[in-house]
Amino acid sequence: MLEFTEIEPCRRAVLEAKGTGLRVGLVPTMGALHDGHMALVHAARKLCGRVAVTIFVNPTQFAPGEDYRQYPRTLEADRAKCREAGVDILFTPDVQTMYPEAPQTMVHVAGLCDGLCGPLRPGHFDGVATVVMKLFQILPADVAVFGEKDYQQLAVIRRMVRDLNVPIEIIGHPTVREPDGLALSSRNAYLSPSQRVQARSLSEALFAAADRVRRGEVECARIQQAVRKHILAAGPADIEYVEVVDATTLERLTVVDRPARICLAVRIGGTRLIDNVPVDPPGVVG
Ligand code: AMP
Repeated sequence: MLEFTEIEPCRRAVLEAKGTGLRVGLVPTMGALHDGHMALVHAARKLCGRVAVTIFVNPTQFAPGEDYRQYPRTLEADRAKCREAGVDILFTPDVQTMYPEAPQTMVHVAGLCDGLCGPLRPGHFDGVATVVMKLFQILPADVAVFGEKDYQQLAVIRRMVRDLNVPIEIIGHPTVREPDGLALSSRNAYLSPSQRVQARSLSEALFAAADRVRRGEVECARIQQAVRKHILAAGPADIEYVEVVDATTLERLTVVDRPARICLAVRIGGTRLIDNVPVDPPGVVG
């Protein structure tokens, strides 16, 4: 595994791999790698002859007061996981390397950032889009794999790539879950044992809602209400949103009349968790 902390040698390594005719697959992460991240690596491996992983806790995507400082950093363990998974190129820059000066250029994807997490995390998606665009320049891969767990992020990046003609194919990978359904997340480490049990209610509520839709429910207000009720029955939680949105535009729906996504953000204790599931209008095989 080739490891880089500097930009130019990393870019050269990617270009050299491409020069030998191999496709390069990129998996950008913030580290604290878990089986969700590694599933993206394996997906990239299937599609490409070389796999590159980046680990960078990007300060510009954390709003003031968020968990930038306490975000888990486990570089040694991450490196071992990457090596074991057969990662070819690992890029672990520091903040000074990525942002030698405060950037004056930011990527803003309008519209898609207006709902869901957008208003609740001011500047978050600008930070994400900008750092991902930078990573696409530093590691000019053929393919990049992102998780559906962060569904709005995936939509934002797809749109950015389309709008700015970035020559990279974006692949979405289904959410990897714990056996009880909880979506794997680096932030799950913040949960106490009892909060961890309670957190199960998020995916349970989403799966139950998707089931309701399969059985014919199309009224989004009723779907959202059922999800809220299920989560609150499991214990005290601050539900930031439960929304049914168009699967591509993320436009809020009142009726499930097209491929959609039920998305939620919930705080349990101090920990903010997000999750989502796909739903199709009744009668449509997704
Ligand atoms: P992060 O390190 O949290 O920024 O995530 C890096 C990448 O891993 C993003 O594309 C995430 O969507 C993806 N990811 C995180 N958790 C999961 C999961 N449970 N299943 C699938 N992908 C995930």
